Amino acid sequence: EFVTVSELANMMNVQPTQVIAACMSLGIFASINQRLDAETIQIVSDEFGFEAEFVSAEVQDAIPVVEDKEEDLIPRPPIITVMGHVDHGKTSLLDKIRNANVTEGEAGGITQHIGAYSVVKDGKKLTFLDTPGHEAFTAMRARGAQVTDVAIIIVAADDDVMPQTKEAISHAQAAGVPMVFAINKIDKPGANPDKIREQLSQMNILVEEWGGKYQSQEISAKQNLNIDLLLEKVLLEAEILNLRANPNKNAVGVVIESSLDKGKGYVTNMLVEAGTLKVGDVILVGRNYGKVRAMHDEKGNALKEAGPATPVSILGINGAPNAGDKFNVMDDEREAKSIASKREQLYREQGLRATKHITLDEIGRRLAIGDFKELNIIVKGDVDGSVEALSDSLLKLSTEEIQVNIVHKGVGAISEADVNLASASDAIIIGFQVRPVVSARKLADSEQIDIRLYSVIYKAIEEIKSAMEGMLSPDI
Ligand code: GDP
Repeated sequence: EFVTVSELANMMNVQPTQVIAACMSLGIFASINQRLDAETIQIVSDEFGFEAEFVSAEVQDAIPVVEDKEEDLIPRPPIITVMGHVDHGKTSLLDKIRNANVTEGEAGGITQHIGAYSVVKDGKKLTFLDTPGHEAFTAMRARGAQVTDVAIIIVAADDDVMPQTKEAISHAQAAGVPMVFAINKIDKPGANPDKIREQLSQMNILVEEWGGKYQSQEISAKQNLNIDLLLEKVLLEAEILNLRANPNKNAVGVVIESSLDKGKGYVTNMLVEAGTLKVGDVILVGRNYGKVRAMHDEKGNALKEAGPATPVSILGINGAPNAGDKFNVMDDEREAKSIASKREQLYREQGLRATKHITLDEIGRRLAIGDFKELNIIVKGDVDGSVEALSDSLLKLSTEEIQVNIVHKGVGAISEADVNLASASDAIIIGFQVRPVVSARKLADSEQIDIRLYSVIYKAIEEIKSAMEGMLSPDI
């Protein structure tokens, strides 16, 4: 949102009521002091014969994005996240992969938790994010950071494809991240991998053994069985992606986590995505900045530099940026400082400005300006039958103009993970006979996610249908 109705009227030298009328014709019932968003400003000013030019206050733009030249790109390691239902073995798998990589000399060496680690398999490096689960994955994505290249979805063979397994799959699919399935706990007497493959197939996920396109591997994380085979499949998946980065430029990347250490000061764990980060570099990260005083890997080794897909822990930032914040190396410390303080100022003035997400009421307006093609929906309900019925009916509402996508469906209360997924994929959430948990409600408020609750299926369908026809009158 930018200027208010009266400010816009002033700029164009027309009456505020004229602007209000123009907004109304777009289905927006604006008051005189209401701030308008970019699209509305554009259309309204156009109607009065003006062309809106946005001079961005987003200082992010102050950092030029230079396209890499083809010849500068070299292969980079894949970044992998492990997701799955609680107790299905995510942590065990991550620990086994990490420990298998501790060489003789380091055996027993203390590995530090820096949010990610790298291992080498057949001479190829893989980087794992070691906060397992889709919550962290999607929370980062909701902040605009997508760091995962391949997702391992782990399912315990003595259990079933569970709600969180389904969530993990939806989250990976919504992010367009390829999945490799790890069917775990095959050492257990009750293990039935076929049952898992069968349940996956019911979700339209056919593994290769069943003639499908998804790679899967039976493993035992506990007994260290077939983990090397799993990693081979992950590497194969990564190869298809042809991941490359330019190591010869100022580093860019993303914060995994940060903390304040009593002795060391602010510790920032980050992932270098491209370029090479060096000790002494000046970093701009979120509203913070600083000079890299020291840099370590997850084994506590001091590093002088770190290339693409390398996790590092650094000292020297003047605060604790958020997970998912992007960082840039700057040539000029003064510039870094000045941008950081401008961001801080903006942050204070505007509060944490939530990105505007789609709401049902807004669809009509977006349709009017020809800016709406897909409606992403998350469906949560009390029982599987109604979730399926509702999802099917919603999908059938798709028209030539608007494609309805069910980004995720599941049984249970609306959770924080659902809201994060909605935020990351610009979706609305429909609850049928369920409500959001308190933390989800709070997050939805701050992220401005539209949650609609229904207790009658046809009401839900009717309302979505009218929204898609642009018929819904906006609440004011
Ligand atoms: P997470 O919640 O997904 O991180 O699951 P954990 O890695 O914490 O594992 C949950 C429990 O399952 C622990 O008690 C593990 O020891 C056990 N577990 C994990 N993998 C295996 C396995 O391959 N076989 C057996 N028998 N137990 C396992």
